[in-house]
Amino acid sequence: MSVYLDYNASAPIDNRVLEVMVEVYKNEYGNADSRTHDFGEGARKVVEIARKQVATLLGVDSGEVFFTSGATESNNIAILGLKKYADITGKKHVITTSIEHKAVLETIKSLKDDGFEVDIVNPDVSGRFNADQITSLVREDTLLVSVMHANNENGVIQPVKEIGDFLSEKGIFFHVDATQTCGKLVPELRELKYTMLSLSAHKLSGPQGIGALILRKKRYKLPPVKNIMYGGQQEHGIRPGTTPVALVAGLGKACELASSEYNSSWNNYKEIKMSILTILEQTGLDYVINGDQKYCMPNTLNISIKGVESEALMLSSKQYCGISNGSACTSSDYSPSYVLAAMGLDIERISEAIRISWGAKSDKDEVVEGFKRLLEVARGLVL
Ligand code: PMP
Repeated sequence: MSVYLDYNASAPIDNRVLEVMVEVYKNEYGNADSRTHDFGEGARKVVEIARKQVATLLGVDSGEVFFTSGATESNNIAILGLKKYADITGKKHVITTSIEHKAVLETIKSLKDDGFEVDIVNPDVSGRFNADQITSLVREDTLLVSVMHANNENGVIQPVKEIGDFLSEKGIFFHVDATQTCGKLVPELRELKYTMLSLSAHKLSGPQGIGALILRKKRYKLPPVKNIMYGGQQEHGIRPGTTPVALVAGLGKACELASSEYNSSWNNYKEIKMSILTILEQTGLDYVINGDQKYCMPNTLNISIKGVESEALMLSSKQYCGISNGSACTSSDYSPSYVLAAMGLDIERISEAIRISWGAKSDKDEVVEGFKRLLEVARGLVL
């Protein structure tokens, strides 16, 4: 049996989440915006309970939670939704980093065609950038800073706290893509100062196809983010379209579980990482870890094994474990990882890089077994 070790791409749904969703599909099939009958009323209640569960996980107000189809859409709304405000104020300078998910990078790059100026900051070889690299670029006309909390490929946690503290004083919009940390870095996110935050249910054992954009109010007012799609008033008009009630309920339940279980989840992540690092040290293989482990998520490990091409390793070890060599969203093109390239790693090391990521409920023994098999395969592939 093959062990699933690609949780950063998508985590399997928690059974308790699935049970809630099945109940909703069976019993709450009304349209949450129907006002003329109890079926609509029942669905609306389910949605509002879920909104509260998301809000509680993040320590925000329910009125600051807007459901979307996932982090890609949340990122698009957060960034493109500010265009009208930028036109009115003339603030058209945006700062981001070269290691963002494409849902941020490509969206911000598209702003250039509309006369925006964009600064893109690089990390160093550790996979991390300094808060100063961002804050020193802030200008009078800076509209937005968009930075991810932890990177999906190497798990490196970025200095969002320092950036958030600085920007909140300056009154500059700060968007955090917290897709890989929501439900994991729970106290950190509750204390973080930001204007907008993106999250996705399927990274925290919820269903695929649902996420949220958090918009923080300032003096009771939401940031001036406008809808980028048209056709309805759902989610205060910010995200039109019939609310997928069961998916929303699934996200809510996943957030509730993350709120109550994040300590034990964290311990499991850490124990698994310690075990596989110990095995790695004893293997005799020549390897290098990509991303500074001092700042790394405990559920992610990115390594390059010398002389072993990642494509060959992934294919040859398929029967033992499911791993990846980067983001699933860019896996259709075979160009080297832009995240590892931005860190200044050489092309050989990038072509040897594999990402292993596990979950809160991953079984340590199973992961260890799969990982040992992976290393055996790697040993046979060394050039
Ligand atoms: N941002 C980050 C950091 C991610 O890891 C991902 C998923 N790979 C996304 C955004 C996109 O999320 P979704 O699949 O929900 O659109």
